[in-house]
Amino acid sequence: MRLGPTGAGTAAIGAIALAMLQLSAYAGFPALTAREPFSLTFLAPPDEGQHMNSHIQVSPGAVAAARRAREGYRPLVLTRRPNVILVVVDALRPDRLSAYGYERDTTPHLAAMQRRGQLVVVPRTVAACPESYCGLLAIARSKPLHLMTDDDLSLHEVLSKHEYRIALMLGGDHTNFYGLRAAYGAVDDYFDGSMDRTRSINDDESVIERVKAMPAWDGRPVMIQFHLMSAHLLGTRSGAFEQYRPAKPYVPWRKGAAADLSKPQFETGNHYDNGVRQLDDVVRRLIEALAAREYLRDAILVLTGDHGEMLGEHGEFGHAKGVYEPALRVPLLFAAFGGPPPALADAADRLASQLDIAPTVLQYLGIPTPENWIGLPLQLPMKPRLLAFQQGYFVGVYDERQPGRKLKYWRNIDTGAQWAFDVLTDPAESVNLVAQLDPAHLDALQQTIRPMAAAIPR
Ligand SMILES: [Zn+2]
Repeated sequence: MRLGPTGAGTAAIGAIALAMLQLSAYAGFPALTAREPFSLTFLAPPDEGQHMNSHIQVSPGAVAAARRAREGYRPLVLTRRPNVILVVVDALRPDRLSAYGYERDTTPHLAAMQRRGQLVVVPRTVAACPESYCGLLAIARSKPLHLMTDDDLSLHEVLSKHEYRIALMLGGDHTNFYGLRAAYGAVDDYFDGSMDRTRSINDDESVIERVKAMPAWDGRPVMIQFHLMSAHLLGTRSGAFEQYRPAKPYVPWRKGAAADLSKPQFETGNHYDNGVRQLDDVVRRLIEALAAREYLRDAILVLTGDHGEMLGEHGEFGHAKGVYEPALRVPLLFAAFGGPPPALADAADRLASQLDIAPTVLQYLGIPTPENWIGLPLQLPMKPRLLAFQQGYFVGVYDERQPGRKLKYWRNIDTGAQWAFDVLTDPAESVNLVAQLDPAHLDALQQTIRPMAAAIPR
């Protein structure tokens, strides 16, 4: 439906309200916590040469390691090169997907793929931060924010060195969003929502149309990255998926609102779930469109989120508002077409990371990983490890080194406040264990986060 005069007027008022909201967001938070804008559309592009992580002070050692890894990287000659399809869904929570056991049938298509044995579901995956730019970079470069440098080899670049053509088809505005477009590196085909003049920036229909306009696959390997907005607060919604009612999007100023999560019909959750239901259908149509053009004759598909979303837990809605589990947990699913999906090692017992996605894809393809990537291929057994996360002044780690525990520790480096939870036994993060931690263990955790804290300007 086209906007008539009344609709256009409403849209203009909405735009002004959003702009004011954006300004108020900047007025209300310290600079570091205002890095993820509510609107992706009211920001000027960064200055030339400035990256979205330019506020992070990376250590000289990490810079030198990135340079060495780049200079030393040698591509292999491969006999088989399956296509790589990476689907990143903005603000997607795993616990709202029926493919992850959610009681509602929000992802019937993904669940059907799972029943057919086409889908491998990684049970527990954490993001490196609850913000888009850092989550997307962590996926691409297999690194947490405090180690990212201008010289990092990305998954895109490694595949390009193996003669893959790289196409980005992104819902949302990645051109004006802190230089994210530049951060992906040189690509062969680029599209984001800001380039579609006929639709809203955040409409996943633009991405589907883009795929439908693609020529049939010519046999040369490709990597296609999609970014989908259907589950995001700003994503354009179709009325066809208004399944759970009453549904109402949260409003960003609703901090501290009494969110009664015991009510299954909770309106914000309904709105979110309707978005997930739409997302499932968008993914179904993308897969069908890719298959019709032969891109899935031999391909691996990864579906994940750039970060999670708070739906009232701890009084918060949205993301980039702290590091509680709903904001850091992301789904991670692998599917393969024309071959078996990757066989993952002991996935049920460990935390996977966003940083593991690129190494897992390269392992599947038989391609070596750059030597300074931090993530590990999930096909291989791995020792219990520490996984870093941060957002603004919140800096922390997951610590899996104690058997039967998944301790999550973080500190506000501005105020000194600390939190620790065993997210295995207390996934709601209700009992802060800091006072009960063994002093030596607490000291070790504090030492671990020191390099992360040092990268944040004060
Ligand atoms: Zn995001």
